[in-house]
Amino acid sequence: MRVFQCECGATIFFNNSMCLSCSRELGFLPDQLDMSAFTADASDVIETKHGQYRKCANYSREGVCNWLLPASSDDELCQACRLNNVIPDLNEPANRELWQETELAKRRLIYSLDSLGLPVLAKADDAEHGLAFDIKASTESERVLTGHADGLITLNLSEADAAQREKMRLSLKERYRTLLGHFRHEVGHYFWDRLVADPGKHESFRALFGDERADYAEALKAHYSKGPNPGFYQEFISHYAASHPWEDFAETFAHYLHMMDTLETAEQYGFATPPRSTRDFEGLMTEWYRLTVALNSLNRSMGLPDAYPFSITPPVKEKVRFVHELIRNARAAAKQTPVKAKPASSPTQTQTQTQTQTQAQA
Ligand SMILES: [Zn+2]
Ligand SMILES: [Zn+2]
Ligand SMILES: [Zn+2]
Repeated sequence: MRVFQCECGATIFFNNSMCLSCSRELGFLPDQLDMSAFTADASDVIETKHGQYRKCANYSREGVCNWLLPASSDDELCQACRLNNVIPDLNEPANRELWQETELAKRRLIYSLDSLGLPVLAKADDAEHGLAFDIKASTESERVLTGHADGLITLNLSEADAAQREKMRLSLKERYRTLLGHFRHEVGHYFWDRLVADPGKHESFRALFGDERADYAEALKAHYSKGPNPGFYQEFISHYAASHPWEDFAETFAHYLHMMDTLETAEQYGFATPPRSTRDFEGLMTEWYRLTVALNSLNRSMGLPDAYPFSITPPVKEKVRFVHELIRNARAAAKQTPVKAKPASSPTQTQTQTQTQTQAQA
């Protein structure tokens, strides 16, 4: 993640909506991958350093977003919020704060995808190949499972509750569980469809990850009934990755996004060089190893658990390389044929708790 600078000279961060130094409002401009200060007046249109923009409706009305959209856009919602299909029931007072946490993690995901040059196509524009999110809490009538099915990512709102999430992490014996990690994992399933299945790269995928035609429901059942296999880390980035080739890919994809975002942040503070865009895969891995050793040591100095509870063995490294190549090729292809489709109508997010989905992948 980049570190941004306000026009007043102060350092500002991705999640800020006000500069603590000059008290001007701030917004992120996804089409510029930059932040700008502005002074809002009575009109909708705001002057930023990159021209005229408007606040996302989830910024101006709900206070859960800090992104802007070009003043000329027909949309009400920013690039990240317009991917929402279902948002939490805001009649439930506790839900707003959890939703705010969730949207912050989601915007960070979209930032990563944008900065890696991956196409972010909304389901509202392309029902077959697009991406959408259902963010909702379980109710008496509906148990919400976090997962992915045909481009629709569902997130159980309780994952935004730190105490609940830690309880789940401990009960599943996981070493890492975060909101951002969930988004990066689930979007990995989406990109498996787009970057592996669509172009028919099944054979090269299977050579590294195994045959994804193995019964998925049976594989997950076995995974949850057997408990952790102590030797999993030899071949898999996480215990969950060992459950099924689809999960292995989603975990590896999420890991690659962890790496790229963290390396970018490290570069911004002068902890990693040279810029990642000019580095080859081996250079990236060398830098990543050096950085994560330091990162964990810093945490131990503060009496905290390791920030990076993973190890990348040679087989895992080859899987990460596979993802690296897929993303590099997708970026090159997206540059040649931009996928920006004009929506027939602006998508709207609906508050509902009644919709049920079939979850293909957890
Ligand atoms: Zn400022
Ligand atoms: Zn927004
Ligand atoms: Zn999964």
